[in-house]
Amino acid sequence: MSRQFFVGGNWKMNPVSREEKKALVNTLNSADLDPATEVVIAPPSLYILPLKDTLKNNIQVSAQNCYEKPKGAFTGEIRRVAPQLADAGIPYVILGHSERRKEFKESDELVAGKTKAALESKLKVILCVGEDKDQREAGETAAVVNRQLQAVVNVLTPGDWSQIVIAYEPVWAIGTGIVATPEQAQEAHADIRAFLKRQVSPEVAEKTRIIYGGSVSANNCNNLATLPDVDGFLVGGASLTAQFVDIINSKR
Ligand code: PEP
Repeated sequence: MSRQFFVGGNWKMNPVSREEKKALVNTLNSADLDPATEVVIAPPSLYILPLKDTLKNNIQVSAQNCYEKPKGAFTGEIRRVAPQLADAGIPYVILGHSERRKEFKESDELVAGKTKAALESKLKVILCVGEDKDQREAGETAAVVNRQLQAVVNVLTPGDWSQIVIAYEPVWAIGTGIVATPEQAQEAHADIRAFLKRQVSPEVAEKTRIIYGGSVSANNCNNLATLPDVDGFLVGGASLTAQFVDIINSKR
């Protein structure tokens, strides 16, 4: 079965100025993007709505996080409460990014709770998982990723998985310029698919998109895009440059 190629741009806390944002939007709006690829940009929360209105409608927007509580006295959670995102027409949210797991001490269970809350609000989730350098060197990659995924499996129904894109993002590859080799990426993605087959269902394993993130660039995307279990990319640094267009078109 064919899974639609998916390319997400995670802008993190960039760009700093509205001028830079405008230039990026112009680059994307004037580019010839592969219509077969689903494209999603995750800007800082202040820019989500303006970007939704200025990007062409072949490019969707995503939040970079959301809180698991539906509403209430949670000062500071601007536009990141799942029902508010959904009400504003934001289709996606990134959850479990390694920067949130590490810098903000988000546990597997918290990520799972947020995932459930997001789905209940009809948001789709880009769910990030991945091992750090020590864990890879200790041969623990599959165990770590399976543990992160199992927490989510425990709170979802099999039907929920149609709303989830899994982003395999080895922490050692994020922002380092060290991209996983095609063999490393394929092995990890195939392991995730095997995990879904065992723990959820063969159908979910077959249908769920598993995208790769970690130093993806115009130079390495074409090789990675040909791998059987790589269904797209989550891109940080290169999504702030014109390279992002090449990455979107890497399957063409
Ligand atoms: C990311 O932050 O999700 C990411 C993949 O970053 P980069 O592409 O810069 O490694």
